[in-house]
Amino acid sequence: MTTSTHPTDEPSAGAPRTGGTVTDRLIEANARYADGFTDPGMDARPVLHVAVVACMDARIDLHRALGLELGDCHTLRNAGGVVTDDVIRSLAISQRALGTRSVVLIHHTGCGMQTITEDFRHELELEVGQRPSWAVEAFQDAEQDVRQSIRRVRTSPFLPHVDDVRGFVFDVKTGRLSEVTAD
Ligand SMILES: [Zn+2]
Repeated sequence: MTTSTHPTDEPSAGAPRTGGTVTDRLIEANARYADGFTDPGMDARPVLHVAVVACMDARIDLHRALGLELGDCHTLRNAGGVVTDDVIRSLAISQRALGTRSVVLIHHTGCGMQTITEDFRHELELEVGQRPSWAVEAFQDAEQDVRQSIRRVRTSPFLPHVDDVRGFVFDVKTGRLSEVTAD
């Protein structure tokens, strides 16, 4: 990255002298990170040959919760941890091009997806005059939605490895996973 267009002693009009945006804070953290970074020389193929699909919820520290190290897995996160067409796209690439064999699906307690409904889509349409092409994929019952996600992975024609697909609900208060058995 280069910041040479604005010498540090002459801050540009748009750059606050103190504080800064959250992104500024992240950039500063990255500079410190890069200072101590050494190339781990890793292959792009996940060491444990596993892809984890989980909700984007800020309370889930996926790597720590699952004892994962850098390079171990692919992590695919979205609102709800739902298996959408785009998750299937990533899983197809993960399995076919990067050697993963197992899929772990994680929803969680207290998910924001349980507080909205498909009305979200209609409200959006009313507000902006255009209906989104995507489904909201809201759900009431996390376990039931995990079952649905398992089915979507297992029945996808694009995924060659569907023997080891397991789903869980993560409890944000205890940090514990509960396995959801497929029906
Ligand atoms: Zn969630």
